Amino acid sequence: MIKTSRKRRWRLSIFSKLLAIMLGTLVILLVIVTVIFALVIFPTSVSTTEYAARRYSQLLAATQPDLEVANKIHKDLGIDIRYEGATGSWTTSETLPTVEQVRNRHAHLSFGHQYHLVSAANGGTYLFAWDVRDKMHRAHQKFLGMLLLMIAGVVLTAYWFQKRLLRPVQSLGDGVARMSAGQLDVVLPLVSHDELGALTTAFNQMVSRVKEMIHARDQLLLDVSHELRSPLTRMKVALALLPEDDNRANLEADVKEMETMISELLELERLRTPHGLCKQKQDVVPIAREIAEPFENGMPGVHLIARPEKIFANVDDEKLRTVLRNLLDNAFKYSLPDSEPVILSLSETPDGVVIRVQDDGQGIPEAQMASIFEPFFRLDPSRSKKTGGYGLGLSMCKRIVEAHGGTIQIENNPGRGASFILTIGDKCEADGGKLQAS
Ligand code: ADP
Repeated sequence: MIKTSRKRRWRLSIFSKLLAIMLGTLVILLVIVTVIFALVIFPTSVSTTEYAARRYSQLLAATQPDLEVANKIHKDLGIDIRYEGATGSWTTSETLPTVEQVRNRHAHLSFGHQYHLVSAANGGTYLFAWDVRDKMHRAHQKFLGMLLLMIAGVVLTAYWFQKRLLRPVQSLGDGVARMSAGQLDVVLPLVSHDELGALTTAFNQMVSRVKEMIHARDQLLLDVSHELRSPLTRMKVALALLPEDDNRANLEADVKEMETMISELLELERLRTPHGLCKQKQDVVPIAREIAEPFENGMPGVHLIARPEKIFANVDDEKLRTVLRNLLDNAFKYSLPDSEPVILSLSETPDGVVIRVQDDGQGIPEAQMASIFEPFFRLDPSRSKKTGGYGLGLSMCKRIVEAHGGTIQIENNPGRGASFILTIGDKCEADGGKLQAS
């Protein structure tokens, strides 16, 4: 699976496309050069040199060389010569065909060898054997080989430079991915001062601007929550003075809801600080069992699966209870009438303790998954009486899990419904030793 996605990523990568373009260019260039050589340069150069060889053979024959001179010529120029005449015959190489064989075309004309017959003034015949074509062919092959090596060298060097040049694109891609995963401390290194450098600077500025905006939003929420506490207290006092009737009960319920909302907002902020948690090593299975118990008789019900039976982690048990209660609450709220029971499973992995809450409800649209942990975010913005809530539950869960150094992820199940997966890296051995801390 990992192999396939890596292969797919490599196929889609801009760098592999660049390499493919370069290799394509290399092949086209080679085909062009080979065709030019085969159709123009090779035939022209061969026919010119062959003509020169023929003319030279005639000139040599006119000087009527004897065996001694012929051997010298063979040594200097690599030309084999045979002479056949009334006064006798000789040859510089025993492998040369006879004049008769060449004349009757019985001599085997291996590729690259040319035979020229020239009549001598004394009545004899000279046979000259040149290997011009063979030599030219080998020289051209060598040239094409060298050309191939040189072009490959140029293409690979160009690819390396392009890859270096486009490095900021890769790091921008990583930065955007990290940012969309919610990391706001992304600062990309500035490696060039060209357009890609300007893009990197603009990206870094955008990240810090987004960080400022989010900080301003959180600060506003915090300030408003603080400011609302005093008027709320005054309202509660004033309400206590009203006669007991339906109106007072309704107002009290609303004030209570506002109070809960405000204390959750303040709690969210408190979790940002290192003092927000009180962690200790404990078995998380009984905690999960205790939270699941009240849900067991409701619809659609809950199954608890813990493997192994005891799982120790360094957690704030109260906060963990809040997270599990919120997630189970949501799993029930967003279940459908025919939903299967919710599965609450706990397991140990090399990454830490993994708690999974899997429901068979309506699921969450992929496009909304990134926003679902934002405060006050609700898939259905109109609060219905059935689901209640005001969109703070999941942001609280996320803040608590992150304060534990863990992560919370959502995925839609293959069939129906959604799964919330918590990974808490701070797991402990049963005998008390801490195995791993994130
Ligand atoms: P709320 O109090 O509105 O439930 P939460 O922060 O807990 O607030 O959830 C935010 C929104 O996420 C909910 O309004 C709901 O639309 C969606 N949601 C949460 N859990 C689930 C789930 N298990 N299945 C489908 N949607 C869910």
